[in-house]
Amino acid sequence: MRGEGCIFCKIANGEIPSNTLYEDEGYRVILDLGPATKGHALILPKEHYANLYELPDENCAEVLKLAKKMAVRMKEKLGCTGMNLVQNNGESAGQTVHHFHMHLIPRYDDGSRIVSWTPGEPSAEELARIRDTICG
Ligand code: AMP
Ligand code: ZN
Repeated sequence: MRGEGCIFCKIANGEIPSNTLYEDEGYRVILDLGPATKGHALILPKEHYANLYELPDENCAEVLKLAKKMAVRMKEKLGCTGMNLVQNNGESAGQTVHHFHMHLIPRYDDGSRIVSWTPGEPSAEELARIRDTICG
């Protein structure tokens, strides 16, 4: 299955060149063209799935295994001291390319803020209401 005109389909399947860090039958891992940090990479399935909701369970497991493999390699080779896995779904979440991808963002001891938010202060009742909404 290929997404019509999807740039990540073309990159994942080698029709558009990329700085590839890893490739197998189902995946390609590339360097992000607009990196947040040195070594920022993207895991791309070769099949087209728009987002996490469309990604089959089997691929979910494979993606996380591959993320770990790459994270271990990057820690060793780049000397990063941390690693953020970021995966955006939907425009409200910041997704700009609608072909599932997972960001691997190596972190260094430079004090930079990449993934952060201001913690809210919900009441116990509010948290319970949200729990009931999600689980009900
Ligand atoms: P997202 O905002 O989660 O959809 O992330 C899309 C990412 O893809 C961004 O970090 C872009 O810098 C990156 N990107 C877009 N086009 C390319 C490309 N042709 N090659 C490599 N990375 C790309
Ligand atoms: Zn695609």
